[in-house]
Amino acid sequence: MTMTTTEQDRWLRVKERLRTEVGEDVYSSWFARMELDGVGEETIKLSVPTRFLKSWIQSHYAEKLLGCWQAEQPATTRIELTVRSPAIRPLPPPKPKVEPSHAPAPIKVNGNEPPRAIVPPATAHDGFGGSPLDPRLTFDAFVVGRSNTLAHAAALQVARARRGDAVMFNPLYIHAGVGLGKTHLLQALTWAGNASPDRKVLYLTAERFVFGFVAALKSQTAIAFKEALRAIDVLVIDDLQFLQGKSTQAEFCHTLNALIDAGRQVVIAADRPPSDLESLEERVRSRLAGGLVVEMGLLGEELRLEILKSRAAAARLHHPGFDVSSSVLAFIAKTVTHNGRDLEGALNRLLAHSKLTGQPVTLEMAEREVRDLIRPQEPRRVKIEDIQRVVARQYNVSRADLLSSRRTANVVRPRQVAMYLAKTLTLRSLPEIGRRFGGRDHTTVLHAVRKIENLVNKDVSLAEEIEILKRALQE
Ligand code: ADP
Ligand code: MG
Repeated sequence: MTMTTTEQDRWLRVKERLRTEVGEDVYSSWFARMELDGVGEETIKLSVPTRFLKSWIQSHYAEKLLGCWQAEQPATTRIELTVRSPAIRPLPPPKPKVEPSHAPAPIKVNGNEPPRAIVPPATAHDGFGGSPLDPRLTFDAFVVGRSNTLAHAAALQVARARRGDAVMFNPLYIHAGVGLGKTHLLQALTWAGNASPDRKVLYLTAERFVFGFVAALKSQTAIAFKEALRAIDVLVIDDLQFLQGKSTQAEFCHTLNALIDAGRQVVIAADRPPSDLESLEERVRSRLAGGLVVEMGLLGEELRLEILKSRAAAARLHHPGFDVSSSVLAFIAKTVTHNGRDLEGALNRLLAHSKLTGQPVTLEMAEREVRDLIRPQEPRRVKIEDIQRVVARQYNVSRADLLSSRRTANVVRPRQVAMYLAKTLTLRSLPEIGRRFGGRDHTTVLHAVRKIENLVNKDVSLAEEIEILKRALQE
């Protein structure tokens, strides 16, 4: 299909739109290699070079992509995404070199160049280009709180180690849910590690690992491979949960073993612990679990507030008029979801609003702007049965125990926790909750709720247990 200039222009605008919506780093990771193959009245044909990209875009950005097209061409109803046949793209030359499109594109933020070149100087391993790094994601910008102290300390330790130092834990495996700072920490480690001239820290997303690294490995001889690995002191892999496929796993396992055996540090982040990486083979999982495994918890309110303060201060450097009162920040910290990305989004909206209108940021404006980011108070979807099931499992009692009239301590506490969760996570009334817990009186429920509320304020580990239960229930 041939395209008119109007269509090409439209495509450029769609790409710009997309870039603005998802941000530069997401854009360059997933969309930079997308091409327009055809424009129909309702259907747009796009292609990407790999199956991985295709399925990633389909599962994460299908709606956004469609939305961007609809904004430019309202009649669009469908995006057809295909994998380009390799024939269109010349294979890389026999000499181990990566296609130009694999070379990391340094990201510009606010017109600043990233502090340092990302790619190691062209040596034997110039085929192993890292993923782009975001210059904002540094240790300085990382706020440490209860939920991430250990992960932060471990990352810092890795970043500060010197070539030849004994490796203390290998691999370092960090896991946490979405938006809780994994990528931030890993990139901070990479920036800091590479600041010392005699060390190479290579940061790769799972995608880059597969389509850059592994591909480069395959095109090299075993000797060149060893050479190349020798030049890497720390290999950092982000979002390991996306590593799929048998041969990829084999390459990964090979790389992991080679590096660890050579005393090189490996750092990994994923959204779940090694034991839950179901698609990985057992031996890979156990190798992963053999180092230090650290979880980063939810961003608590205090940490959210600190993050917001530091972000607001950073924004003020570039936009001196941007003044956000502490009550507005406190409001956002209190109400916006646990996800760090939403915090950033909330602040960006306030910034945009204040720049466009020239008006100061008021609480009322903040409430309006971030309404849709507010943590759902109404997890109506959480059912009392689910709460009972999850709590029973957590405390190793049966659901019947929770509903029974037994009063032994090992049943009483879980029962109180379950009632408390029923009150806080559902819209059910106290009498209704009482009925659902074996026909108890509403005052019993109230007592349980108060009791747990009190304990949560004093008992950090109970508070954490409850956070975990809530998270499990709300997912
Ligand atoms: P993940 O990779 O775990 O999904 P990210 O590292 O991308 O999460 O974090 C999402 C956003 O939240 C980023 O803007 C990041 O800078 C911010 N963020 C998360 N945790 C922290 C923290 N402890 N300090 C400062 N910013 C944070
Ligand atoms: Mg991430």
